[in-house]
Order: sequence, then structure tokens, then C-alpha cells
Amino acid sequence: MLGKDYIDQDCALARALEVVGERWTLLIIRDAFFGVRRFSEFQAHLDIPKAVLAERLNSLVAEGLLERVPDPAHSGRHLYELTESGRDLWPAMHALITWGSRHRHLNSRVYMHAACGTVLDEDGRCANCDLAPGPEEILTEPRKGRGRSRSDPVAIALRGPHRLLEPLET
Ligand SMILES: [Zn+2]
Repeated sequence: MLGKDYIDQDCALARALEVVGERWTLLIIRDAFFGVRRFSEFQAHLDIPKAVLAERLNSLVAEGLLERVPDPAHSGRHLYELTESGRDLWPAMHALITWGSRHRHLNSRVYMHAACGTVLDEDGRCANCDLAPGPEEILTEPRKGRGRSRSDPVAIALRGPHRLLEPLET
């Protein structure tokens, strides 16, 4: 099996990729920014094999990007929430979304500064307020005419404007 660490690389990028470089990991983190918190919701939205999802979530908890908290609605189950270290990935996440949208496939969602409604520029900044809002100050909604390709509960809950990190009502 291919290892996931780069022991001979004295480089912060290599260390970061050891944590977020595996298939599915960044999509799980993206969904956590969208407010997805339950195992079943990640699974429904990502169509990811359960064993892989469990492994990735365990690894993200072990690395300190997600934390498990008791689920008040289901005793014995857990919710997954981004830690400060996980939330710190927002600028990298936005930069990757921007790159993908420019060079691969126009992003299906837009991101706005919640305080003023201005769509963020490619650097993740609000030109109106001259600042780069943190994820908790950002609203996302589907680009006009998009966001209808999936009909799982998470995709449906994301059809309207939604503030990042706010728990998703599914
Ligand atoms: Zn603004």
C-alpha cells in the first residue's frame, strides 16, 4: 500500500498533505464548512463508502482538525465539528475552489460576505468592506441555475443561502 507520509520532504506542504492530501478528505472538510455534522449526512452527500468515511473522520479527529461532540438528538452518537485548526483551512479551501472554477469546472456555488452581501473576489476578500471575512462571516448559495443536480438531504438544505459553519437543518 502506498504510504501517506513524505518523510524525506522537509516541507510544510508535505506535512499538510499528510493530513489533507488523501482522496475525500478535503470534500469532508468542505462539507464540515457547509455545516454537515453527522456521519449519515456526510455519507449521503458524498456517496463515500462507509469504511472510508469512518477512516477519514477518525484520522481528522486524531489530527485535531475535527472534534467529536455528543449528538443531543441521538444518544450514543456523535457530531463532528471543525476545530480552530480545521477552520484555518478556509483560505486554502477557497483558493482551491477558485482554481478549480477557473481551470476545470465553474463552481456551482457563490460565496458572499454575510454583512453586506458582496460576492467574495478570487482572493476570498470582500471588496466593499476591504477585508477577508472568516468562514463564520460567509454566506454560500448555489450559482443561478445550479445546485439541483443532487437531491440528498444535505444538497436540498443547501439550495438556499446558508452561513458557513452553521449546523445544517436536514
Ligand atoms: Zn462586505
